[in-house]
Amino acid sequence: MDKARTEHFRRILLAELRRHARLVGDDQAAAIDAAGDGAKESADLSLRDVIEELALKLGERESQMVADIDQALMRLDEGSYGLCVRCGKPINERRLEAVPTARYDAACQAAIEQTNSHSPRPTI
Ligand SMILES: [Zn+2]
Repeated sequence: MDKARTEHFRRILLAELRRHARLVGDDQAAAIDAAGDGAKESADLSLRDVIEELALKLGERESQMVADIDQALMRLDEGSYGLCVRCGKPINERRLEAVPTARYDAACQAAIEQTNSHSPRPTI
C-alpha cells in the first residue's frame, strides 16, 4: 500500500477514534487530534496513551472497537496494514473502506465465521 493510501486510511481510523472519544468528552477528542496530528515524536501525549485512557472510560463494547482501531493504527505504522493477518494476502481495498479495522481478507473471514458458526453471531 502506498503512502497516499496509508494516509487515507489513517485519517479514516483517526476520525473513527475521534467519534468514540466524543462519547467520553470533547477534551478526549481534542487529545486525539493533538496526538494524531503532526509529528508524533514531538507530541506531548502519544496517541497510544490517549487511546489507553479512552478505553478505560468507555464501556466494554466501545473500548473493544477502540482497541481494534488502535491495532489497525499499529499495523499502519508497521507497514502490515491491509494485509490479512491469517494468510498475508492483501485485503480488498473496498473491504477496508467499509471496515477499516479489518484484520482478515474475505476468504479468511468466511473460514473463521464458519468455524465459529456454532456460537451466536453478535448483532450490531
Ligand atoms: Zn486471509
